[in-house]
Amino acid sequence: MESIRADKIVKQFGPVTALDGVSLEIGAGELFFLLGSSGCGKTTLLRSIAGLETPTSGSIHFGEKNVTQLPPHKREAAMVFQSYALWPHLTVGRNVAFGLEERKVAKKEIDERVKQALELVHLGAMVDRGVDQLSGGQQQRVALARALVVRPRCLLLDEPLSNLDAKLRIEMRREIRRIVKEGGLTAIYVTHDQEEALEMADRMAVLNQGRIEQLGTPEEVYRSPRTPFVAGFIGETNLLEGEVLDVRDGFARVQTAAGEVVGRLSGWDEGDGPPSGGAKVVLSVRPEAWALDAPGESSVTGRVVDRSYLGRMIRYTMETAAGRQQVVELNPETLRTPAEATVKLSARPADVVVMK
Ligand code: ADP
Ligand code: MG
Repeated sequence: MESIRADKIVKQFGPVTALDGVSLEIGAGELFFLLGSSGCGKTTLLRSIAGLETPTSGSIHFGEKNVTQLPPHKREAAMVFQSYALWPHLTVGRNVAFGLEERKVAKKEIDERVKQALELVHLGAMVDRGVDQLSGGQQQRVALARALVVRPRCLLLDEPLSNLDAKLRIEMRREIRRIVKEGGLTAIYVTHDQEEALEMADRMAVLNQGRIEQLGTPEEVYRSPRTPFVAGFIGETNLLEGEVLDVRDGFARVQTAAGEVVGRLSGWDEGDGPPSGGAKVVLSVRPEAWALDAPGESSVTGRVVDRSYLGRMIRYTMETAAGRQQVVELNPETLRTPAEATVKLSARPADVVVMK
């Protein structure tokens, strides 16, 4: 278990700036996520931490130790790739043992550690099976056991679930979290799947074009996005443009094309001071934050134009003066209003985020 620190990492591939000054600190024992869309620099950052890429500038520390110039095998970070990179003609046990054999660990200790690693991933009974006889999910577990058996100081996972079908992917989310926590590991997990990050992460960094756009716990990032990009990337949301009418105690009353809405300021740093009247802002309201025909400080009205049944929720598409875009999710029992009726949309000010 080890803390990891990256300071002002820049990585250039010719004219492409893959990482543009990334700094972050990951605590010992933390399951930390790098989240962002394809091409934003996630893999490059992970490979830089593993030692498979040398940053153009910046430094990386494991604990107190500067590892920026160390080759991968001296960093003791184990990486799990999207393609599991297993040897199909070898047994499960031999696949897992490989890293220890390379390190010339004694045979008896190898057997013991392989057994432990396979038990941790719940494959204790599979040691003599051929890897090619396993399901995708089991192969993923073997890849994890192979990474864990060398007792890495940190575990680096690059989109480890992207080759699994949807149901297994969801099952393996819990499994990987359990394995990381039971093993007391510091882990960095790369994904483009915001649901995976929300469900699994202790904390996460949202990357956009080689920069960290926001860093925090899943709850902080979901509840208090600092930018419209983050609000739209993490979870579903309704974005509304508007102009500030007045500001009080961290809340702003905003005029939008749909009506007046009051929301909580997010993304204004101490130095900037709050926005003044007339400032252009963007509001984010989650589908579950809108209430229909409830009392509240809002003058937004809308008409139900579509309805879809999701089981635990019903999703309504509303048309407001700002256009046909407001998505509202309600408990199936809540709305009695017939389609086409005009209703008032309101949200608690604490559930509306006002951003730059
Ligand atoms: P992600 O993992 O988030 O999809 P990557 O880290 O793989 O993103 O890539 C970030 C950017 O760097 C992309 O524009 C990609 O094309 C570029 N890049 C990554 N690796 C190389 C490389 N070896 N040579 C040239 N460009 C690269
Ligand atoms: Mg990648």
